[in-house]
Amino acid sequence: MTNTIIEPFKIKSVEPISFTTREYRQKALREAHYNLFLLRADDVLIDLLTDSGTAAMSSRQWAAIMDGDESYAGSRSFFKFEKVVKDLTRFNFVIPTHQGRAAEKILFTVVGGRGKVIPSNTHFDTTRANVEFSGAAAVDLPVPSALETDKRSDFKGDIDLNRLKDLIRKVGAANIPLCILTVTNNSVGGQPVSMRNIRETSALLNKHGIPLFLDACRFAENAFFIKLREPGYKDKSVHDIAQEMFSYADGCTMSAKKDALVNIGGFLALNDAAIAEKSRSLLIMTEGFPTYGGLAGRDLDAMAQGLEEVLDEDYLKYRIRSVEYFGDKLEKAGVPVLVPTGGHAVFLDAKRFLPHVPAHQYPGQAIAVEVYLEGGIRSVEIGSVMFGRETDGEFVGAGLELVRLAIPRRVYTQSHIDYAAEAIIEVFKRRERIPGYRITYEPPYLRHFTAHFEPVVKETTPG
Ligand SMILES: *Cc1c(COP(=O)(O)O)cnc(C)c1O
Repeated sequence: MTNTIIEPFKIKSVEPISFTTREYRQKALREAHYNLFLLRADDVLIDLLTDSGTAAMSSRQWAAIMDGDESYAGSRSFFKFEKVVKDLTRFNFVIPTHQGRAAEKILFTVVGGRGKVIPSNTHFDTTRANVEFSGAAAVDLPVPSALETDKRSDFKGDIDLNRLKDLIRKVGAANIPLCILTVTNNSVGGQPVSMRNIRETSALLNKHGIPLFLDACRFAENAFFIKLREPGYKDKSVHDIAQEMFSYADGCTMSAKKDALVNIGGFLALNDAAIAEKSRSLLIMTEGFPTYGGLAGRDLDAMAQGLEEVLDEDYLKYRIRSVEYFGDKLEKAGVPVLVPTGGHAVFLDAKRFLPHVPAHQYPGQAIAVEVYLEGGIRSVEIGSVMFGRETDGEFVGAGLELVRLAIPRRVYTQSHIDYAAEAIIEVFKRRERIPGYRITYEPPYLRHFTAHFEPVVKETTPG
């Protein structure tokens, strides 16, 4: 019996990655003001900044791209795409968009507005931004275990139903146009939502006439976790599990840059004819005609193919296990990671990794900088750089200080992951000598993308 789970593909086309010296990276960091978003991608060896839009497409997807129909209206590619989405979700109306946030923008423009409240297990940052831009309030109701990075639990992505009940009582069902469940729950570590939680959320909302939507970016990864962990699902196909997840919902937004295995694309799908009609009008104004929605015909073909491939259980087994393998390797070496490992990324717990660096000196940023310096690996801080605030000169830190290492789909092999783990373990060994950072420049909004930093102590070349 063989036990090793291998990549369920062979490689037909390769892309070189660039090796640099430590001295070179030290200089690149200084020039990028210690903000990894400001590095040139060519100076990165292994890029774990995001799993969004970074997947490797299959030979069948590339073949589908050649077969795309670029007709302005009524494109064959649209009907193929629409059929795949309808067969999977059973929603009546399918509206393609250029990526997930465009679907969010349209949906919340139609249903949001001043005085409205949108509850969620946790809003992704673009979802929150689109809800708030409409004038509505975005309320996160994660279960308490979501904030305990060192405690294992199967479904830390769930919404807290008691808090949802209280919220409905407090603000009134009439002010809640919909509730959105993010599957998997990206912002709390790619943690899955259980079928039971989806079902119970749907039942509770139903009683009050509130529709349930899924932010379905990682629906296939979530479905596979249900198969692995939830009683009663072991013998069901992931396709059937995914269909059941969608069956409790009235609609979804989707970034196809995740589980549709493409580099660009998204959609909004739903049952309500009136909302669909208004959404299509907005789509025509901002994205394009309803049968292409901001994409080329070929992109719709690649999405249709990707949505079928992502439900292949050999793929999902490899996907979930290879991310977990990375987390396990770090955990075994004593590196503090968020457990259990989620579906798309490994998260380092920067508070436990660098206890001597206070939140206002951005421990997550400090680790991300060192991991790049050590091995040319790019990660992203998800902590006080992203969510911290200065209020009346008072620093308010983020709840969690994390560093996310997101794994692009079908891109890196086990030896890339082994190398990345070794580099992080090296950084962990010299953690006591790692300085904190201060911000020397920041823009008014979304500062993590463009802020400048400098180390708090005199700059030395560590290690
Ligand atoms: C990526 C993402 C989005 C936004 O999608 P884009 O395609 O990047 O616009 C929304 N929700 C979640 C959970 C995501 O991960």
